[in-house]
Amino acid sequence: MKQKTPVKAGEWVEIMCAFCGGTGKNPFAAAKCPACGGRRKVRVQEPLLLCAYCEGTGANGRMTCTICGGKGVITVKEQVQPCPACGGHGRDVSSPLRLSCPVCEGKGVVPI
Ligand SMILES: [Zn+2]
Ligand SMILES: [Zn+2]
Ligand SMILES: [Zn+2]
Repeated sequence: MKQKTPVKAGEWVEIMCAFCGGTGKNPFAAAKCPACGGRRKVRVQEPLLLCAYCEGTGANGRMTCTICGGKGVITVKEQVQPCPACGGHGRDVSSPLRLSCPVCEGKGVVPI
C-alpha cells in the first residue's frame, strides 16, 4: 500500500486487489480472481493493517489467504500490539504446516 491519504476510521475505501495484483484474473488458474470477482479492486474498511499471514500478498499458496480473503489487508479497529505468540508473523511456528497462529488468528497482532 503506497497510498498515504489520511482516512477516517470506519471509512470504506477501495484498494487494488492484492491476490490478482489488480488484473482481475486468478493468477493460478484460467478464471476470474476469487478475491475481487474480476473487479480488480476490493472494498475494505479503515483502519487497515497489512495482513501478517500472507504478508500482504493476499495469497496462501495457490489459494486466497484465509485471514484477509485475498485483500492483503485486514481491518483492525482496536489498539493492537504485535502478537507475542507468533512474533507478529501470524503463523504458528510450532506447527509443521505453519498454520495460522491460534492466539492472534493469523492477524499478527493482539489487542493491547
Ligand atoms: Zn483480484
Ligand atoms: Zn492475508
Ligand atoms: Zn499470533
